[in-house]
Amino acid sequence: MVKAVVGANWGDEGKGKITDMLSKEADIIVRFQGGANAGHTIVNNYGKFALHTLPSGVFYDHTTSIIGNGVALNIPVLFKEIQDIIERGVPMPHILISDRAQIVMPYHILFDQYEEERLGGKSFGSTKSGIAPFYSDKYAKVGFQVSELFDEKNLKEKLKQVCEIKNVLLEHLYHKPMLNSGDLFDEMISYRSMIEPMVCDVSAYLWKAVKEGKEILLEGQLGSLKDPDHGIYPMVTSSSTLAAYGAIGAGLPPYEIKKIITVCKAYSSAVGAGAFVSEIFKDEADELRRRGGDGGEFGATTGRPRRMGWFDVVASKYGCRIQGTTDVAFTVLDVLGYLDEIPVCVGYEIDGQVTTDFPTTDRLKKAKPVLEVLPGWKTEIRGVKCYEELPENCRKYIEFVEDKIGFPITMISNGPGRDDIIYR
Ligand code: GDP
Repeated sequence: MVKAVVGANWGDEGKGKITDMLSKEADIIVRFQGGANAGHTIVNNYGKFALHTLPSGVFYDHTTSIIGNGVALNIPVLFKEIQDIIERGVPMPHILISDRAQIVMPYHILFDQYEEERLGGKSFGSTKSGIAPFYSDKYAKVGFQVSELFDEKNLKEKLKQVCEIKNVLLEHLYHKPMLNSGDLFDEMISYRSMIEPMVCDVSAYLWKAVKEGKEILLEGQLGSLKDPDHGIYPMVTSSSTLAAYGAIGAGLPPYEIKKIITVCKAYSSAVGAGAFVSEIFKDEADELRRRGGDGGEFGATTGRPRRMGWFDVVASKYGCRIQGTTDVAFTVLDVLGYLDEIPVCVGYEIDGQVTTDFPTTDRLKKAKPVLEVLPGWKTEIRGVKCYEELPENCRKYIEFVEDKIGFPITMISNGPGRDDIIYR
């Protein structure tokens, strides 16, 4: 069976933990979109890891980890990530890389930096990992698929052509040093040696695996609200964050995705610019940020402090719907145990009218949060294993959220570890 694990919010919902946990029962874990711009933090028996490109299943030796065609593949970053986990005692994972995955080129990273510099205060808050220039090139049809590393003649020729275009921008728009196609060629050849044994026809591999009844997990990056179509455009990422894209980014039939587990966080956090209706500030935000996640709400890739907010029913209901949710995994609930009262954003007021439908960006900018306050439970809930043992107010919070978003919360995560989970 194929299951997708995706985010309902702005990312950082704890997808890594849920994927790592579900990987115990899985055969194959596939990354299908995004790149090394965001990360998953995973805590398990080997320690605490920040993964950027590797799927969250790499810690089990019975799994195969796959980089699908939809991923922005940064080869040296992947290579380093593999080395790092091995150095820390994790057995060499079985990794496959799609021959159709495209490569993040060194100049994509440069262009990302140069463009942010050029935009100054109007920037998108990019992580400068080259993701936006990468996907622009992919759809402008000047990207490089992994398979192209194996045809040196064509590679040389195409690099020359691409450099011609890039150098015009570098010289005249950014006033930066120009690219040399020969140097790039040498770099590409070094990339090839890093990944050669892992390259294969991933969609054919997965097709066979489905036929054999294998358990496959599709692991999403970021969340619904960062989707380029359905999110808070233009403050979005450059590849689709939705489960539906899992079919494309892995090369699977869409009807094979039977379960869509949408990870939804018990409060809100976001990185980068853009409207964030339930955002809180100052001491209130600092305290939640400090207590949040596992050791604070700071970016796994960038270390930058995340923006904080209360749970947003409007955004999460929409986020779950647009994913096609079958199950909600409600995460980091333990963090809220310090609060006497917990505000929840239950509606948006836009031009004097209250709505619970998530608006397009122009209207979103005008939205003010309508808050409802629920009583806190004021106890530590880590270690609780069954739903009935949760404090009454905690169950009421979960049931309130479930009722408002309209999708079943079947898993509750009450700690960062693999076993910190309550099934309902
Ligand atoms: P992802 O990108 O969706 O995988 O999310 P991140 O890894 O960026 O952020 C999730 C953070 O919360 C990580 O530090 C996790 O270890 C941590 N985490 C996940 N689930 C829980 C939970 O239920 N409780 C607590 N306290 N931390 C959690």
